[in-house]
Amino acid sequence: MILVVGGAGYIGSHLVKELVNIEEVIILDNLSTGFRSLVDSKAILIEGDLGDEAVLNDIFLKYPIKAVMHFAANSLVGESVQDPYKYYENNVASTITLLNTMLKHDVKNFIFSSTAATYGIPNVDIIDEEQPTNPINPYGRSKLMVEQILGDFAHAYGLHYVVLRYFNAAGAHESAEIGESHDPETHLIPIILQHLLGQREKISVFGTDYDTQDGTCIRDYIHVTDLAKAHILALQALLSGKKNTAIYNLGNGKGFSVKDVIDTCEKVTGVKPNIEYADRRPGDPARLVASAKKIYEDLGWKAAIDLDEIIESAWKWHKSQMN
Ligand code: UDP
Repeated sequence: MILVVGGAGYIGSHLVKELVNIEEVIILDNLSTGFRSLVDSKAILIEGDLGDEAVLNDIFLKYPIKAVMHFAANSLVGESVQDPYKYYENNVASTITLLNTMLKHDVKNFIFSSTAATYGIPNVDIIDEEQPTNPINPYGRSKLMVEQILGDFAHAYGLHYVVLRYFNAAGAHESAEIGESHDPETHLIPIILQHLLGQREKISVFGTDYDTQDGTCIRDYIHVTDLAKAHILALQALLSGKKNTAIYNLGNGKGFSVKDVIDTCEKVTGVKPNIEYADRRPGDPARLVASAKKIYEDLGWKAAIDLDEIIESAWKWHKSQMN
């Protein structure tokens, strides 16, 4: 049985949809940013907080948990600058409680959702895992702190872990039963699609003077089902003993500018957007593109879904939410 913390959230729910085919799944989620409607019917949902030791103890006593996959975090850069306590409390302190309780019950396999924000402003075009980590906001720092704690816990307590540093997760499950939904929404692709469905007046492009080919920021968009598949391989590598500790980037290895993404959305949907060119958003690096070579070499994973398909799947999901 696998415990998925944050399995009612956007990325966690897509992982659960794959994982229920091969393992029994129990989800712990406080539904602060997740939704009951995203939870697969084959999984058990426990509504509770990952920082609540009593709830965690009950779960580890009651269920034969082999591994924990941890998706439950606050993940808005701007909010983390305004309210860093929330980020260090939830993303770091609660994660320590989770790790400590796992270890107390002799559960030693852990998969952690980390982020490209751990790299800060990289000075290379393609980022591999050897690049220095130098996060520029509390969100990125909270994730890097947990990565460092995992290293220390592995050394001292024999914890086995895989850290997965996501680039820009996007898209929706092929069934269109689950997809990306945040409140408030801050992510580029859902904002564009909501606009194209008439739910927003316009799209604001944050910054047109970056040092990129068209002046807008470049990101590496990765389909959420590709991410889910990487988690399954990482879990299998831990459970089989093939890997004890590892850190991997998860990305497509291709960069698309904000303008490229808007153009692709227009192409896929056939709807013309109303675009406003606005100031830069604080904390946005010009370019974040992954090398995901290491996880390909170690576990045979590579992204299979391209930007057109990512947007097609997201469009299908957003339209389904209109009814
Ligand atoms: N972006 C934008 N307008 C929006 C939302 C995002 O121009 O309404 C830009 C943002 O500045 C960044 C890129 O789109 O360069 C991706 O942003 P998102 O919030 O989706 O992901 P992030 O890279 O911040 O994790």
